[in-house]
Amino acid sequence: MIDLHCHSTVSDGALSPREVVRLAARNGCRLLALTDHDHTGGLAEAREEAAQHGIRLISGVEISVTWYGRTIHLVGLDFDAENEALQTLLARVRSGRVERMRQMAQRLEKKGIGGAFDGAMALAVNPEMVSRTHLAEFLLQQGLVRNKQQAFTKYLGEGKCAYVRHQWADLAEAVAAVRAAGGIAVIAHPMRYDLSATARRRLFAEFQAAGGTAVEVHSGSCSLSDRLNYALLAQQFDFAASAGSDFHREGGYGGGVLGACPELPPICQPVWARFREPFRLGGS
Ligand code: AMP
Ligand code: MN
Ligand code: MN
Ligand code: MN
Repeated sequence: MIDLHCHSTVSDGALSPREVVRLAARNGCRLLALTDHDHTGGLAEAREEAAQHGIRLISGVEISVTWYGRTIHLVGLDFDAENEALQTLLARVRSGRVERMRQMAQRLEKKGIGGAFDGAMALAVNPEMVSRTHLAEFLLQQGLVRNKQQAFTKYLGEGKCAYVRHQWADLAEAVAAVRAAGGIAVIAHPMRYDLSATARRRLFAEFQAAGGTAVEVHSGSCSLSDRLNYALLAQQFDFAASAGSDFHREGGYGGGVLGACPELPPICQPVWARFREPFRLGGS
């Protein structure tokens, strides 16, 4: 009944904020955070719809961060979405997506694939949020890949031929902006980064030094052993534990059921107990 990570058409999801909340409600959700990439524009609509279904909607955002040349995602939860410093940071992180798409399209052009820029832009409901997800959809529509996953392994993944490096936010400034807005910073889907154990500890330690206090112990369709591993790591760092489907679309990337995550291991300190208004399972 809890899901603290999902996407709408405001970024690279397939459903409008309203439709996201409706589907979450159908799946039995009681506590939901909409966490579009670098954008909080869907929160007002989601909150309005959530009120119709007895769902508590938490402010959320998934911030793109560049950490030693790699892309890491942070989730911000339970912040004041009107906060200017946070909005200034998000606007800066968003800027450059269109230009980056132009460059990725140019690289595809060199491989003989034309029309990628216009194709991807046409698929983005919110053009400033055009992403690799939209470009993958275009490649799929063109019949150039069998599925989106293959678009990433063949063209769009880190280091692949159409990949363009991008400078997102710094780790410390993203954490600081979430905190300045009264929120909790969370390391998103740690099981999905290709990090050595040493690098992972370093990420956790730097995140903590910057003021980060939580980590996703469950994400999408991760395994029970992932949950147990990250529950232990969270315990070692005294991080609160979050859980999110990373839902983008039915049957899509993330792989989780929108609105309903598996229970966290009992050693976890749930992040929702640390919200400004703590959420309690069973009660409200
Ligand atoms: P961007 O922010 O433009 O770099 O796009 C990143 C987005 O691409 C992520 O938020 C995911 O939604 C999606 N994505 C990343 N890797 C994959 C993958 N292997 N298969 C499908 N979608 C992916
Ligand atoms: Mn995404
Ligand atoms: Mn992510
Ligand atoms: Mn996500």
